[in-house]
Amino acid sequence: MTSAPKPGAGYAGLVEMRKCRVTKDYIGVYRSAEAGLEADPDLPWSTVCESHSYIVSHSTLANARAAASYPDWCEECSAKMNTKETP
Ligand SMILES: [Zn+2]
Repeated sequence: MTSAPKPGAGYAGLVEMRKCRVTKDYIGVYRSAEAGLEADPDLPWSTVCESHSYIVSHSTLANARAAASYPDWCEECSAKMNTKETP
């Protein structure tokens, strides 16, 4: 088991950290530039799967947060979600 990462404790640019209800993985929403992520000026927000290091960038914080609640953009999480959804 991994412990919950805490915002402000070494996570530069972190806006929000949430745990995916389906995969139980932690997903962080970051300001790309502050987090030291490769920043496209048009996509200043990044959503990061802390467990698998997948990153997806967005133009708005709302979109980045939406991606955090449903991490189908992370191959590993997507695979887990597909497994759980199969009866
Ligand atoms: Zn993942």
